Amino acid sequence: MDTAVFENHESEIRGYCRNYPTVFASASGARQVDEQGRSYIDFFAGAGVLNFGHNHPAMKKALIEFLEADGVAHSLDTYTTTKRDFVERFHEVVLAPRGMDHRLQFMGPTGSNAVEAAMKLARAATGRREIVAFSHGFHGMTLGSLAATANDAFRRWAGVPLENILRLPFETAPGGDTALAEYAAALKDPSSGLLPPAAFLVEVVQAEGGVNVASPDWLHQVQDLAREHGALFVIDDIQAGIGRTGSYFSFDGMGLDPDIITLAKGLGGFGTPIAMNLNKPEVDRHWSPGAHTGTFRGQGLSFVAGKVALDFFTDDAFLEGVLEKGEQMRTRLQAIADAHPDRGWVVRGRGMMQALDTGDGALNARLQRECFDRGLLFGPCGSGGRVIKLIPPLIIEPDDLAEGLDILEAAIAAALE
Ligand code: PMP
Repeated sequence: MDTAVFENHESEIRGYCRNYPTVFASASGARQVDEQGRSYIDFFAGAGVLNFGHNHPAMKKALIEFLEADGVAHSLDTYTTTKRDFVERFHEVVLAPRGMDHRLQFMGPTGSNAVEAAMKLARAATGRREIVAFSHGFHGMTLGSLAATANDAFRRWAGVPLENILRLPFETAPGGDTALAEYAAALKDPSSGLLPPAAFLVEVVQAEGGVNVASPDWLHQVQDLAREHGALFVIDDIQAGIGRTGSYFSFDGMGLDPDIITLAKGLGGFGTPIAMNLNKPEVDRHWSPGAHTGTFRGQGLSFVAGKVALDFFTDDAFLEGVLEKGEQMRTRLQAIADAHPDRGWVVRGRGMMQALDTGDGALNARLQRECFDRGLLFGPCGSGGRVIKLIPPLIIEPDDLAEGLDILEAAIAAALE
């Protein structure tokens, strides 16, 4: 089968079919193989879903056992053994060691669903409307989460008021160094007419927005401002969380204490969809039964694979490996940037989310194709695709990582010709 079927029958929105003009047939670890048997190193990992790679053997085994035992695949609100086991394991591995008493809330399976729920809960808990979000932030494509998403290209077609969002510059954006202080002063000034917000919604590392890394100091300023005005401090850890930056949460070790944490993507481990918010009890109590429903809130397959994924975080060597491989990526990207000093390319990232900001979306699109031709997949991000974002599976073998970086370097040379 050739890819024309997608061109002719699928919606125009399927951009990746054009950028990766082949049909993938199987996948394992950090590689996908197409119908012709060509192998591709995957530096995209399903936009940060496949942190543990494709078809991880331990997850596969657990899923097969679950299916053979006729486990409850869909349970919605009822308790099942798989849901209980996941919840208990999450407490044991993630919450208890951090002394966190957050409640787990499942909702529809996407990150957007998690953000929507967080925004609703923040509004219910505070009786306020406005949410403060940040420039370059990405929080989803449904109308509520899209309102918080900064990128105008995504918002242009929404066709309804995307209101009750106040957008401040992110720390690393122009004006980002003074914006919080100015906003804080305005909140205290009755003549500004500003009402205190329901919540501040922030990514610790903005993934889609261009791999922009916030400093712990700035994040503390956001949290302090939230506390001072009785607003909630919400961290969207949907892409930067679950090991991506070298720790379970992207904010681990920073002394932050978010009221709500949104999780999705890699939480299901296998690409199995699941989203979950962690709500502080005093916030969570503002839900009333049935206040936030949704049919797909209890996917058995996601609980099974997601529980196995939690095992990675009981193994220090795994997270040390993430940091080492992240360093390998960063060093290599820096060498590439240094080899083109006149272009002003910038390398940034944390852990295994590393990026090369070429500032040139057209170049990056050519590069994506040159990489594809050589057997490497990646997705650009940032305004107009100006940033090459590399998010390989965290379990990638160092040799595959090195080979992928070699391909990137060769592709850059070809794309610049
Ligand atoms: N928040 C962040 C930080 C994300 O990166 C994404 C997805 N790219 C979302 C929310 C939305 O997740 P989904 O696409 O699953 O709705």
